[in-house]
Amino acid sequence: AAAQLAHASRIAALGQLTGGIAHDVNNMLTVVSLNLDLLADEIAPGTPAAEALQAARKAAAGGASLTAQLLAFARRQPLSPKAVDVEALFDELRPMLARTLGRSVSVTLEAEPGTGAVQADPAQLRSALVNLAINARDAMPEGGTIRITAGPGAEGAVAFAVADTGQGMPPEVAARAFEPFFTTKPAGKGTGLGLAQVYGFITQSNGTIGIESAPGQGTTVRFTLPRATAEEAGGANGAAGPRRGAH
Ligand code: ADP
Repeated sequence: AAAQLAHASRIAALGQLTGGIAHDVNNMLTVVSLNLDLLADEIAPGTPAAEALQAARKAAAGGASLTAQLLAFARRQPLSPKAVDVEALFDELRPMLARTLGRSVSVTLEAEPGTGAVQADPAQLRSALVNLAINARDAMPEGGTIRITAGPGAEGAVAFAVADTGQGMPPEVAARAFEPFFTTKPAGKGTGLGLAQVYGFITQSNGTIGIESAPGQGTTVRFTLPRATAEEAGGANGAAGPRRGAH
């Protein structure tokens, strides 16, 4: 328990530090991008100057995506939670994941009957599941199976699991896996921001998250999200029939 507490306060301290930096850098990048857009109107297309401008815009966009991941970790990203029907979300992700992950892995997504809807930002939930699936794929260079499941959890939550049959993690890796910039992947392959983003998003959404893993035993990442109340779920993405509200 003492180790758990030390870990939680370390994560909180890292969140404060990176969140502050990410916020300021993000503001600066916004100024950079706006000014580059203004310059774009002044520069003739196809010239070396236009190419230089294009390179600068690309770098600014790369920086913005990095700060977005850090803001997610620091739980300082703006979220738009709504009722998300889990079954419908899984139906949408199934073909996309099969395409993204390639042929060497087989991926299944299954929601138990009665899983219902969660109250969460749909875009962030989608990207969290994609991040976890990509990590699972990366842990299985020889191929394997990824099982993504959801079902009713304790205390009005929905419980998710992303399980792989990959190489697993030793305890010292599992203990640091949620930290931003922690990666065991070769330079240029991993940023160490994937699990940090997932961690920040889940905790900011009033959920919980943990890792079960051992070398050679595969990895299961489990997380919970609050169930959407019946009222909220009335407008869920997968609800049959006419939708309420403005569209
Ligand atoms: P990245 O994928 O860029 O390295 P992450 O934050 O997503 O960053 O993951 C951090 C580290 O945690 C990985 O480098 C890897 O060592 C470990 N890890 C994450 N997911 C898994 C998994 N499913 N199986 C084994 N190791 C994993």
